[in-house]
Amino acid sequence: MDTTQDNDLKKPRTVVITGGSRGIGLATAKKFQLLGDRVIITYHNTEPSDIDKTPLGDSEDLYELTAIRCDIASTEDIDNLFSRTEKEFGACDVLVLAAGINDDSLLIRMSEEKWSKVIDTNLTSCYKATKRALPAMLKKRSGRIILISSAVAMTGNPGQTNYAATKAAMIGFGRSLAREVASRSITVNVIAPGLVDTDMLSALSREQLDALLTQVPLARVGAKEEIAAAVCFLASAEASYITGSVMAVDGGLGMGY
Ligand code: NAP
Repeated sequence: MDTTQDNDLKKPRTVVITGGSRGIGLATAKKFQLLGDRVIITYHNTEPSDIDKTPLGDSEDLYELTAIRCDIASTEDIDNLFSRTEKEFGACDVLVLAAGINDDSLLIRMSEEKWSKVIDTNLTSCYKATKRALPAMLKKRSGRIILISSAVAMTGNPGQTNYAATKAAMIGFGRSLAREVASRSITVNVIAPGLVDTDMLSALSREQLDALLTQVPLARVGAKEEIAAAVCFLASAEASYITGSVMAVDGGLGMGY
């Protein structure tokens, strides 16, 4: 018996990845590209010419990555992202919300500006992008939404009240939405990465990193490709019975919580 329910998500799917110019988002984009999908990535401060668009495979059949400028905190930019995507590639089948920032400070010294910037970029953007992508998914009665949260949503981290609050809220947001749209065969899942080797992690000193690694049973940082693999699985037909889940990809840091 074929238990997969998303037979209308035929390849090539239209995949939109926010924060696709670097790090986890770009690694995920290349993996979807390798699977034969049409992938639209967003960039904000990275120059388009600095985005490494080299595909992982050398097949000539692969679609080129399309990069669209989008400040994920801007409603106007988000509308433009989806309007262009729909016009050029059709409605978004898979939405991956990977854009994110941290701007750390102990709460006692955290300015309201620092607080709001992180909330707007990491959390309010999820509301805006998902709301814009959803009508087309509801109409098609299919779709995959994958939010990139963080292990700190569960563990907390000194200096990251703003960041951890957004990452924890993404879980509540995703699970509530999963319940709202399940009847239309749209799944919503969250990935909680641990320490992943990207620019975000490079802000830590060697000492800070070594201290954090003592908490990781696999005793190493993760590769961005390891997060990308989990995202692609949750977007695959094989994952059609998974919704509202939080998948820890963290070397055992949280032991699945
Ligand atoms: P990264 O290498 O620093 O990349 C961040 C991405 O977010 C970039 O593509 C950046 O685009 C984009 N971005 C930032 N502000 C934006 C804005 N206002 N509008 C649109 N895009 C914006 O970080 P990463 O490690 O790949 O992180 C990806 C996601 O994983 C984040 O949500 C992060 O919180 C989460 N995460 C990371 C780790 C880790 O250890 N690395 C662990 C847990 C969770 P531009 O460069 O074009 O500005």
